[in-house]
Order: sequence, then structure tokens, then C-alpha cells
Amino acid sequence: MTKWVYGFGGGSADGDASMKNLLGGKGANLAEMSSLGLPVPPGFTITTEVCTWYYANGETYPADLETQVQAALAQVEGVVGKTFGDAANPLLVSVRSGARASMPGMMDTVLNLGLNDQTVEGLAALSGDRRFAFDSYRRFITMYSNVVLGIGHDQFEEILDDHKDRLGVVIDTDLTAENWEKVVADYKALVEQELGKPFPQDPKDQLWGAVGAVFESWMNDRAKFYRRMHDIPESWGTAVNVQSMVFGNMGETSATGVAFTRNPSTGENKLYGEFLINAQGEDVVAGIRTPQSLTRAGREEMGETALSMEEAMPTVFSQFVDVTGRLEGHYRDMQDIEFTVEQGRLWMLQTRNGKRTAKSALKIAVDLAHEGVISHDEAVSRVEPAALDQLLHPTLDPNAARTVVAAGLPASPGAATGKVVFDADEAERLGQQGDAVILVREETSPEDIHGMHAARGIVTARGGMTSHAAVVARGMGRPCVSGAGEISINEKAGTFIARGRVFKAGEVITIDGGKGEVLDGAVAMIEPELTGDFQTLMAWADEVRRLKVRANAETPLDARTARGFGAEGIGLCRTEHMFFDDTRIAAVREMILADDEQGRRAALAKIAPFQKSDFVELFTIMSGLPVTVRLLDPPLHEFIPHSDADIDALAAGSGLDAEKLKRRARELHETNPMLGHRGCRLGVAYPEIYEMQVRAILEAALEVKAASGVAPIPEIMHPLVALGLEMKYLRDLTDRTAEAVFGEAGDRVEYLVGTMVELPRAALRAADLAEHAEFFSFGTNDLTQTTFGISRDDSGRFLQAYLDKGIFENDPFVRLDQNGVGDLIRIAEERGRTVKPGMKMGICGEHGGDPSSIAFCEEVGLDYVSCSPYRVPIARLAAAQAALSARSGVEREKDR
Ligand code: PEP
Ligand code: MG
Repeated sequence: MTKWVYGFGGGSADGDASMKNLLGGKGANLAEMSSLGLPVPPGFTITTEVCTWYYANGETYPADLETQVQAALAQVEGVVGKTFGDAANPLLVSVRSGARASMPGMMDTVLNLGLNDQTVEGLAALSGDRRFAFDSYRRFITMYSNVVLGIGHDQFEEILDDHKDRLGVVIDTDLTAENWEKVVADYKALVEQELGKPFPQDPKDQLWGAVGAVFESWMNDRAKFYRRMHDIPESWGTAVNVQSMVFGNMGETSATGVAFTRNPSTGENKLYGEFLINAQGEDVVAGIRTPQSLTRAGREEMGETALSMEEAMPTVFSQFVDVTGRLEGHYRDMQDIEFTVEQGRLWMLQTRNGKRTAKSALKIAVDLAHEGVISHDEAVSRVEPAALDQLLHPTLDPNAARTVVAAGLPASPGAATGKVVFDADEAERLGQQGDAVILVREETSPEDIHGMHAARGIVTARGGMTSHAAVVARGMGRPCVSGAGEISINEKAGTFIARGRVFKAGEVITIDGGKGEVLDGAVAMIEPELTGDFQTLMAWADEVRRLKVRANAETPLDARTARGFGAEGIGLCRTEHMFFDDTRIAAVREMILADDEQGRRAALAKIAPFQKSDFVELFTIMSGLPVTVRLLDPPLHEFIPHSDADIDALAAGSGLDAEKLKRRARELHETNPMLGHRGCRLGVAYPEIYEMQVRAILEAALEVKAASGVAPIPEIMHPLVALGLEMKYLRDLTDRTAEAVFGEAGDRVEYLVGTMVELPRAALRAADLAEHAEFFSFGTNDLTQTTFGISRDDSGRFLQAYLDKGIFENDPFVRLDQNGVGDLIRIAEERGRTVKPGMKMGICGEHGGDPSSIAFCEEVGLDYVSCSPYRVPIARLAAAQAALSARSGVEREKDR
């Protein structure tokens, strides 16, 4: 019989922290905390396998699930001494999702389940607090209706607001028991009106309704979006945790809160968090009331007046501090903890490794290593490479003038400038157009996640440091200011007012997420300084890394940036970018218009000095590091305008013959330019172009060698080669030209001749190419295009449908298709090195900066990856992690 249900609580558990795949993160950690003897309200976990079963079997449950749930429920009843559905002594439960990887706020939760018209009276009698009982009941009706019955939250809010207006009450806690009873009556009437039947009163029906809703929420849009963003496979499924309720809303000695054992924004080693007295968990996360600091130091730092938990509840607080220390020690990482205090008694509801900003991740990893808790290698594997992106981008110039229009909480660091947008859909729309936008909202909810992703930064008028906006923004690496109470938003008018000034949608503001400030207009930014923890961790990464990391760069600025980020050479210099420069494009066009070879040579002679000086600069910056220069790749028609009007304008401005231009444009027109006259096919048809380029490269190398004494290492790369004889022709051309240059100069430099592998045939016949090439560089942009037969320029139009339907898990132009394209790379590596053992190989397609693709490169045994300059640190870290997991794979094999 399959065990579908795992119990926990009362000092023991069926599962433990190692069972995350089966129990989900929350379930596994609740089990672990129970076994550690921490105060955990008893409950049980319905496994992720049930979710998988549910979707594989037409949304039904395994036959024996109900019996197992009943048994687990009976056990919980035994531990707490209450009975589910009992009118006098009711057990109430929470029903929560819990996937393997945490997906905060993406799936559904129901609290206070088990309440109905009878049990609410039992709860009132038991607690001696009728107000509390009806407050809990109205919360339950709202949540259950929203999550299970599909009735909008706002309809309940409206009813509540009407009651409050009528009573002249501002905050919820001022409503009395009688007030809440009336609210409950109106809520039930609303449900009946919407549904045509009454709110479900049978606790068993309620339970199965909630369990089903949690499983269903695995497939809701926001969960899907989140999974795609964080690479969480759909097949994992979620678990469901059913846990006996403890109440933070049982008066002034009760509270609920969230804590991090270290600061999730900065990484500072100080307990950090927020709590609310007389409240339930969702009040903290939803940002409905602004919570108070946990510690006195935190309160003082934030300038709050309301007492911290340390001051308001000193005894429970010190017990809590004890528990947080134990948890961090046990898990050897910063913990994100949820807890409730019920009438002076502490209960732990959740612990997990806390989400953190890149800055904080770095500091925590480096600190834990220095504290001796983890090794350097573990520290390296703790930081998500992609998260480094946050650190590599500019921050506000401290010397720039700044006009603060509102202050709020520093919820997620970094700076961003953009146009004000009030709506998530609008943010997405403008973001897709390439506009920089700042999403400004009263508060955010999981429905806004696509807009938050599209925005450069987020501002909320309400909510604390652990509000939805804050947590999600930190996870996404978006700067965020939360709880900027000075901002008053009028969504209908499309404006917000702050400090007396009106801002319209579309106006530009800047936010400083590190300080918690909203600023008027655009503010100057400065480049980041990559020192301290960043440098330390990168040094540890470099110690274990095998793959070299190079950059794709052609401008001096890119080359300098790349070196600053630690690039060990240039893996791809696309020479055509140099042709587009204003000073050269005229000569390039002249070459294209030339009637014969002589005319082309004359035009090329004008381009040659420019090319040479570009290479001199590049070789000088890269002093002694390898530089792979790729010869001209795009079809020639890319250099001349296409429409008659544009050609006329060009002719008028340049003195070129318009008719001749038009004729040449027609001649060069191709139905399928990506498969047309491009790449080395240009070099074969017009060898004088490649001769000019080879000459410029080698003359530049000689010049730099003479001037600096350091000989550059040029690697001359031919694009889009498919045939052995093509490669032989290009190799001969290159060597012949080189010998001519060296003869004229009376000096030599070493150089390599190689090819890109961008075509399936090149990969399959790699042995033929290797006869004449000294290196391969996998051009996986074109190789993906040609393997799939999907145009890299047009895939955007239909790829989404494939992603939505799960046919593609990822965009293959972003993440290497390790099966198909990967097979071709494996074949090319093997066949190439059979002819030339140890042949140098790298990757220079966009995939060279993608961590999972880098892991693949490590596995295949490439020598280097090359990526855009800003991704170099990401690649260094990813390469180190790939080396570590390859090594641990070897060790595991040895163990067996
Ligand atoms: C490639 O095809 O992967 C490549 C790097 O070349 P380009 O992107 O310039 O076509
Ligand atoms: Mg290419």
C-alpha cells in the first residue's frame, strides 16, 4: 500500500527534512522541527505524489487516500484533545500548499477550517472570547470562498467597509463580537446569492474542498509563471499540509510573525523580522496592517514607536530567539521562520532556507564560511549565479541631487528609474515595448507578478518588509520601496500624490530600494564596485573552476568591462559590428557596389586601416589574453537600406548612385538570408574580404607586440563552415595571407585558425573540419536555429504557445537544448578530438552565459565559455558550481 499521508507533531514525525521531494519543503521541515522537539502544532502532509496522481488520473484521488486522511486526522485529534466538527470542542485546521521549492504566495491557503454555525459557538465558549470566534469565522468564510468557491475577495471587503463606515470604525480590531456576527451573516448571504446554495457547513466537505483547491492552485497562472521564472518543473507537484490551528488573534497576549535569522536584504547577522499582536498570519504577509519590529534594535533603526516583540513579550521572545538559533545551527543556513504566539505560548509554523538578495546571499555565504559553519566550496555553491546580476548593475550616484518625494521601507535594494505605471498588465505591456517602468501600487498580490517582473522597480503605499511586494521583489532582484505611506494613489485618475505633488502615469521617477526612497525624475547612477564579499566568493569560485570564461566583445568599452569582471580573453569579436560604424559604412557600401574584384579591393583598402586600429585597441586592452576574431558573417544586404525611400535618402546624402544601389539591393535580395550568402560563403566568393581582415588582425598583432613587448594571441575564426574542403580553403587563405604579412614585417606572431560549429553538418563531420582547424567554437545561436529549423529572429511569435503547452520547458535560444543540440555538440567534441586530441573548444552562443548550459559545457569537457561582459561573473560562478557538482559526482561514484 502506498503511504500518501505523513503525520507530524507531539514530539515525533513520520518524515524528516530529507524528504522534501515527497513532502514538499514545508511538510519536510515541519516534520523535522517536530522531531527536534520544537513546539509545532500537530498535523499531516498529503504527499506531492498525490498531486501527480491527481493530474494523471483526471483530477481524482487514489482510492485509499480518504482512509489515510481520516486516520491522520484522528491522530491529530488525539494529540490536541479536540474533535474535527465537534460542536463543543472543535478542532480547526489550516490547509496549505507546500512544493519542493518554495513558491511564496503563488498557491492557495485556507485557515480556520472546520468552522461552521455550530463550531463557532463552541470556539466562542472554549476561548471565552466571542469576538475572536466570529473574527475567525469571517476570515474563514472569506478565504474559503475566495480560494475554493471562486468568489472575489473584494466583494467581502466591500461588505466589511460598509459595516465599518456605518459604525464609524477605522481598524478591524475595533469591531465587537456583535459587529462580526453581522458581518458573518452578510458574508453568508453573499455566498448564497453568488452560489445559489449556502456556505458549506460540513467540515469534511470543507476539508476536501480546500485540499482540492490547493492541488488545483498548482496549475494556476501565477504558479505557472513563477515556475517558469524559477525553473521549477511542473511534474514536481505540491504537497498539502493540514495542521491544527493555533491562534495569533486571541487577544493582546497573542501574536503572529515572520523572522529571518539574518537580514535578508543585507545579510547582516542579526535576527530580523516583524510581528503583529492579535492577528493571523495572512495579516502580516498581505500588508493589510503595517507590522512592528521583532527586536528593539530593529524598532529603533526603523524609528517605530510601537513596542517590539522583545519589549512587549520578553519571555516568549527569549524562548523564540533560542529556537531561531537552534534552527539556523541545525540547517546551517539563514532561516525564514513563521510563528504564532497563542496566549503567551510559542508555536512554530514553518522554517525554510530564507530567500535573500544577491548582496545578502554573498555576505551570508562568506560569513558562514568564516564562522566555520560551511566550507569555501559550500559557500560557492550557496549563491545562485543568476542572482549576481543584481550586483552588477548601477546604483544611484551618492553625489547626484535627489528630490525625495516619499519615504518608505528599503524592501529590496538597488536603484531604478522609469515611468510610473499603476497596473500590472500595463507594466507588462510597456515593458515588452522596451519601456522602463516603475510599478506603483497600494499593495501587490500574486496576481501582479507578471507586472512586477516587467517593471524595473516596485513601490507600494502599504505593507512591511515581509509583504508580498517585498518578498517577491527581493526574489526577482527588483528594487522595491514598500510601505511608502506618504503616497496616496488614485488609480482611476491615473495619479498619485506625495508631499503635495501630483504624479501622473507616465511621469518618470527613481527609486532607491536600499534606502527606501522615492525620488522625482531620473537620478544619475554609478557603476557598482565589486569588492569585499563579492571578490572573496569569486576568488573561491576561481579556485575550483576548470572552464575558462571569456567575453563576447568588440568595442573597447565592452572589452574593458569584461576584463573588469574577470574575463580571461575574448571568445567572440563580431567584426561586422565594426563595419557599421559611421566612419566606415560608406566604404563598406562602396565595396558592395563595386563591379569587380579590383573595385572591391580598392574599397577594402579604405576599410583596412580602421579594422587594424580596432584590433590594436582590442589587443592592447586584452594584453596577452586570447582574442577570437570572427571574420565577416552577415549577408551583405544588411549593410544597405532596403526600401526605395531609404535608398534615395542614402543616395542624396552620400553621393552614391541611387539606381545602382537599388539594382544591387535587388540582386542581393534573398528569400532566406539566414541560410543564404553569409558566413564563410562570403569568404569563399569574395576572398579579398577575408584577406583584408586577416591582414588587419595580424598587422595589428605585430604592432601591439612591437609597442608593448606582449604578443597578442589572435584566434582567427571562420563562421558557418559546413565542409572539410571549405575549411581547407579558408585555412590556406589565412595562412597564405599571414605569411605575406609576416614576410613584409620581418616578424611573426603566433595565431590559431579555427571555425565556429553552427551547422549540424559541421558537427557531424567535425573530424573533416578538425583536419584543418585548430579550435572549434560552438555558435549555439545558429546551431539551435539550424538544428530545430526554427528562425532565431521569428521564434518569438510562436514559442509562447509551445511554452504554455509545456512542449518546450524553456526557450531553446536561452537554455541549451541538451538533448538535440547537445548531442551534436557531444558528437563534434568526440569526432574533432579523435583527429586532434586535446583540441581547444569553447562556446560563444548566448548559452555561454546561462548557468545550466554552462554545466553542460563542463560535462562535455569544453575548455571555455564566452558570454556578454555583464554575465562574466555569473559564468565564473556557474562554472565553479559545475566543477563542484562534477567532482561530487565522481566522489559519489567512488563511494559506490
Ligand atoms: C552563434 O551563432 O551562436 C554566434 C555566436 O554567432 P551569431 O550570434 O553572431 O550568429
Ligand atoms: Mg552565428
